[in-house]
Amino acid sequence: MTSRYEIRSLNGRGFAVFRGRKCVSTPSYSMEMAQQKLSVLEAQDKRAGRKIRPCITCGETFPSEGPANRMCDKCRANANEIFNGAV
Ligand SMILES: [Zn+2]
Repeated sequence: MTSRYEIRSLNGRGFAVFRGRKCVSTPSYSMEMAQQKLSVLEAQDKRAGRKIRPCITCGETFPSEGPANRMCDKCRANANEIFNGAV
């Protein structure tokens, strides 16, 4: 399974967990500590039902925010456009 998270070095000031471009953990002194935080975040996501799911519209896999989130960002943006156009 693909992780939504990755560990990046903070220019010599330790390591932190990132989701996309966003830093989602406090800085860690070691890679091991950052790895632990990443595991905790992934466990929280799993409990919350966030995982990689196939989009109901195009079938492409994407990181879902929860059981109710079944459409990828691309399709959701399209759906919003259609919705806005209809109003
Ligand atoms: Zn889609």
